[in-house]
Amino acid sequence: MIRFEDIQETVKGHHPGADLEILRKAYIFSAVEHKGQVRASGEPYLVHPLEVANILAEMKMDPICVAVGLLHDVLEDTLTTPDRIEEYFGSDVFHIVEGVTKISKIPYATTEERQAETYRKMLLAMVDDIRVILVKLADRLHNMRTLKHLTDERRVRIARETMDIYAPLAGRLGMAKIKNELEDLSFQFLDPDGYQSLATRVAGKRKQARAFIDKVRGAVADKLTEAGIEATIEGRIKRLHSIQQKLKRQRIDIDQVYDFVALRVLVKSIPDCYAALGVLHNTWRPVPGRVKDFIAMPRPNGYQSLHTSVIGDDGHPFEVQIRTREMHNVAEEGIAAHWKYKEGRTGVGKDDDAFSWLRQLLEWQQEVKDPHEFLNSLKLDLYPEEVYCFTPRGEVKMLPRGATPIDFAYAIHTEVGHQCVGARVHGKMVPLRYKLQNGDIVEILTSSGHKPSRDWLGLTATNRAKAKIRHYLNTAEKQQALEIGRKHLERELRRFDLSLKKVSAGSSSPIASVAQELGVGQRLEDLYVAMGYGKVSARQVLSRLLPPEKLVETPEAEKPRPVVDAVRRFLGRREEHITVKGTDDLLVYRAKCCNPIMGEPIVGYITRGKGVSVHSRSCPNVQNLVYDPGRRIEVEWGHGGGGGYEVRLAVDLEDRMGALAAVTAALASMKTDVRDMQVRTFDDNTASIVLTVRINDLKHLDKVVKSVRGLKGVIDVARQSVTGSVSA
Ligand code: MN
Repeated sequence: MIRFEDIQETVKGHHPGADLEILRKAYIFSAVEHKGQVRASGEPYLVHPLEVANILAEMKMDPICVAVGLLHDVLEDTLTTPDRIEEYFGSDVFHIVEGVTKISKIPYATTEERQAETYRKMLLAMVDDIRVILVKLADRLHNMRTLKHLTDERRVRIARETMDIYAPLAGRLGMAKIKNELEDLSFQFLDPDGYQSLATRVAGKRKQARAFIDKVRGAVADKLTEAGIEATIEGRIKRLHSIQQKLKRQRIDIDQVYDFVALRVLVKSIPDCYAALGVLHNTWRPVPGRVKDFIAMPRPNGYQSLHTSVIGDDGHPFEVQIRTREMHNVAEEGIAAHWKYKEGRTGVGKDDDAFSWLRQLLEWQQEVKDPHEFLNSLKLDLYPEEVYCFTPRGEVKMLPRGATPIDFAYAIHTEVGHQCVGARVHGKMVPLRYKLQNGDIVEILTSSGHKPSRDWLGLTATNRAKAKIRHYLNTAEKQQALEIGRKHLERELRRFDLSLKKVSAGSSSPIASVAQELGVGQRLEDLYVAMGYGKVSARQVLSRLLPPEKLVETPEAEKPRPVVDAVRRFLGRREEHITVKGTDDLLVYRAKCCNPIMGEPIVGYITRGKGVSVHSRSCPNVQNLVYDPGRRIEVEWGHGGGGGYEVRLAVDLEDRMGALAAVTAALASMKTDVRDMQVRTFDDNTASIVLTVRINDLKHLDKVVKSVRGLKGVIDVARQSVTGSVSA
């Protein structure tokens, strides 16, 4: 078992003069809290936090970060409260421990590569301090080193997650050493047979490989000395996972030792790097296309090196990396290297990429002298434009910031979107306008038969959701127009003792060609739709079906039908009291987006082929510039009471005895007729009622909303748009 004193010595070595009191406190705290706990290996649990802290200390992390290594599991695995940690260790330590605990709880359940990338980005998006990720990587590394003690099933699951998420993440952060070890360990558990057979084959070639390395290394050293370049040359056998990847990629066998060895030349300066490359290329022929200059064009994670493959004396190509020692440290330790190697050049590329934050980090690095100040500047918001959420089954969805549960629902499936009636985040009900946060686990509640409404357009942030909602609304509207048109035509025909059946019977029926003649389409349905939208009047159709004298003979048909009638035809009697100034045979309807109520200030718009839509003056659709001011038309409420309007109200309330009764009693006391009521209850002891009530005018509506809102247990009352079909 590693000793705490050794860790302390390592930290002291990397951070001379730093206050290590916090380390000792963290050690004692962790030892007390984990007392009696045992790991799967049978060792005391404390071994794990000690090993994690040791990995962090070897990564040259600061005392705070190493202390978090000691404390990283106390929140999740002991009875300690968050308050106690903050009180004992301050907000920095607490914040990082909390972050590690948070990302450890995220479910990972996919094998899809694209999902893995999203998931990695989400992990980064969820942390605001990069040390959270570093502690998590150290934690994972120790768990992988001791994975053999777990059951097969858990081994494979953890190894898969490591291979998909944590090894690439270490790679992104430039930490090659940790990435390599994580990959080899994962490989070993994910494919034990493949790992064993490769290990055996490589071991069999080890002697041969060593000989090859020695020979080449000697030759390179001679040439560089001749040229006056001081260099350290390392030859190494590649790691098993990277050999396996190469075999997979190139479909070659590993009989050739030069396939799994590589040479590394470490020099003093950048000019020496290029000089060494020149010497190598002068001595051996370079393989075309294999020369890469990551010094002039560093990788996004800051990696710098020259790569080449040259053809050796025996005709076999081998790989060489050339870099300065400083670049080497960055390559091995990545972002962690910067805790130690703060001064000096760490230039990075200018190309714009998803990891520009890292570049920025490296740039700050050069300006900041005090390590503590440096750490504070590491507060991150890596993906300010995106938000990452989960389905209850652990699938990640990436959405733009500002996205709501409706966007999430449409991201799952169009039907889930259409039928979305509510959502739960981390098990609690949220309103549909709720802005999703990173790491939210979102459960969409659906109700079959529920339909999207126009105001959803204002509640969505994704183009996908908006397009699906629009498509649905257009289709529904067209269907509605079709029904209105057909009913209208039927009624008009009846006045001339004709029936739709009669005029539309057979393929050569009189009406068959009317749609085409009027230029509205090919089929009879197109004609109905055109009538429903008001593009074609009944008279235009009838004049093609009846001899002109008959049309004139009917007194009713002579008079142009006033708006009131048109409205009555399409919307039933209730609309009698909207009048359009300067009447015409226009279809008037109350806009579904705002569903204006009598008494409310209103405004009319002549829509393209759909008649006049009447909006509330405060309707956002009116204010948006979607409407052409030239199409504005004055409308007003007429006098004389109509039968009222159907208004839909959504009431959120606490689910408790008597709450529902109180609502209905309140409505009855205001003489408000309830036409329909749907109640849903939820696990978190809330309920929602969707009421369809009969409302006389705006004053009445105000009174109803106010009084329901004032009832005990009612959380919110909102008016919903009516999207149901229009009664004719
Ligand atoms: Mn742990």
